[in-house]
Amino acid sequence: MNLLIAMMLSLGCFFLLVSLFPVAKIISHPGAKGVENYWRLLIVLIFLFLCGYLAYTSFFWWSYSRLIDLIVPTIFFFGAVFVLLVTSLALKTAQELQHTFQLEHASITDSLLGIYNRSYLDRRLLEEFSSARRYGHELSVLMIDIDHFKAVNDNWGHQVGDQVLQNVTRMIKSRLRETDILCRYGGEEFFLILPHTSGSAAMVKAEQIRSEIEGGKDYPQALTVSIGVAAVTSQISSAEDLAWQADMALYRAKQAGRNRTEFFSQEKCRQLKS
Ligand code: GH3
Ligand code: MG
Ligand code: MG
Repeated sequence: MNLLIAMMLSLGCFFLLVSLFPVAKIISHPGAKGVENYWRLLIVLIFLFLCGYLAYTSFFWWSYSRLIDLIVPTIFFFGAVFVLLVTSLALKTAQELQHTFQLEHASITDSLLGIYNRSYLDRRLLEEFSSARRYGHELSVLMIDIDHFKAVNDNWGHQVGDQVLQNVTRMIKSRLRETDILCRYGGEEFFLILPHTSGSAAMVKAEQIRSEIEGGKDYPQALTVSIGVAAVTSQISSAEDLAWQADMALYRAKQAGRNRTEFFSQEKCRQLKS
């Protein structure tokens, strides 16, 4: 029996020591931000437990004779197993959560520009449109297209073209509120969702973005954008309809000479078609 108890106490000490490793890893894990001190407190408690185990072992070493003497060492042993299991599971869970978060983030982000991608745009526009309809909020959208961007690639190469796209993204972002949702529609086109924003406020924002980019210096050649703006009205029946209106307004801005902001108008759209 003494051998069994000695083994349980030694293993208990060993498990407690081992459990310090997952705790140390958790402290440096980004998921533990803000609660590091609680994990440090756990390290102190594990050391206190260890001292208790060692003191108990040295006091009663090889002096057990009755079956009842097994109770405390058994509790110590399973206590240490419990601590090791909980700390290891906490670390594994934090790592799995981080991995899931990274995958989710990558699935909705454009890798070149670091803004939302097209699939996120489709989902989010639908949500924002439904919400605007149900609660009577205003909602506007902007379709932004870089003018003659092909010439940038042709003149300076695609790598410079990529940098220009990144600079334009940064400039658009500098004009946004926290609640605005900027997505890459595709190629050199951006789509901006402006929740709780009227058509006229969206026009003001679009003009700010247009002139910011026009005045930019971080390009190898002069650069401008054309912007189409549309807002939710009672005539718009779906999110696709809203996006289509912004697209039509953008088309009109291009037709009218580029470096312009245009608001969707049914009347002018008819003129364009005819
Ligand atoms: P417009 O004023 O009519 O919009 O003319 P544009 O030249 O901007 O439009 P066009 O559709 O003719 O060309 C878009 C170009 O954008 C062609 C394509 O190679 C380039 N492009 C699309 N995606 C990327 C990208 O990720 N990186 C780079 N460098 N170029 C891109
Ligand atoms: Mg385009
Ligand atoms: Mg273009």
